[in-house]
Amino acid sequence: MNVAQRVQSDPIVATVPDGVHVAGLSKRFTMRGTSVDALRDVNFGCARGEFVALLGPSGCGKSTILRILADLEQPSTGSVSIHGEAPAAARRRHHIGIAFQEASLLPWRSVRDNIALPLELAHRTVNHAAISDLIALVGLSDFEAAKPAALSGGMRQRVAIARALICEPSLLLLDEPFGALDDITRQRMNLELLRVWSARPTTTVLVTHSIVEAAFLADAVLVMSARPGRITESVAVDLPRPRGPELLKTPDFRALTDRLEQAISVSQDADASSTKPSR
Ligand code: ADP
Ligand code: MG
Repeated sequence: MNVAQRVQSDPIVATVPDGVHVAGLSKRFTMRGTSVDALRDVNFGCARGEFVALLGPSGCGKSTILRILADLEQPSTGSVSIHGEAPAAARRRHHIGIAFQEASLLPWRSVRDNIALPLELAHRTVNHAAISDLIALVGLSDFEAAKPAALSGGMRQRVAIARALICEPSLLLLDEPFGALDDITRQRMNLELLRVWSARPTTTVLVTHSIVEAAFLADAVLVMSARPGRITESVAVDLPRPRGPELLKTPDFRALTDRLEQAISVSQDADASSTKPSR
């Protein structure tokens, strides 16, 4: 049987390639003889172009999932497919963009040169017009020659997000990218992120412990609990796009955040010792 025939006759093969698919994922860390089940039997999927939020308390394994997707950590069991590729292949081909809570910019490089860095590391032609477009998209056109020390925390995260997008990844991974910012800046950055994401639709997995952030940004929220880290509920976000600040005050948004809060408290009843995520 050739590949085309197999794809036609096998619905699993036919449906697997696009989107992100995680099946039977577990991760056990062993340190000085003690084992931690950071993840146990995690399963989820999303279509290409979707925005998924992983929501849960500190220590429930959110970053571990992201790090496995990014090929920075190996699963103990399970499989991951990123638009048909294993994480290692996706990483090698620069199909993954990632931004963490700390922007980790090179202090001696300008905004423009920090954003260009992944292109240089990938030995790709540095397309100056594309960099300028991205700098404009994240609202930093007046600061492209500035060094990171001259930028606010929010501006540094804009640079980190532009840097994550410069290789036009098929998967964007964001690990609490605004977690270190004050509430007002954080809300502004969420609006910015939605604007950037709408202009560059990219499959995105966001880690957050904020219910409002997850509900405001995502198409689906995966609620997690700790010890062992697992997904306890997947909540579809049925709110219209484009989304603006007025959405936060609507009854539909309130109903959704109430629903997520309830999903989290149910998941934490199973793990009474951990702290609840903030709203
Ligand atoms: P979260 O991002 O939800 O706060 P993490 O994924 O960072 O959670 O961690 C999940 C669990 O795995 C925690 O108990 C953490 O201590 C443990 N863990 C994470 N990384 C390591 C590691 N490299 N070595 C040992 N334990 C780890
Ligand atoms: Mg984390």
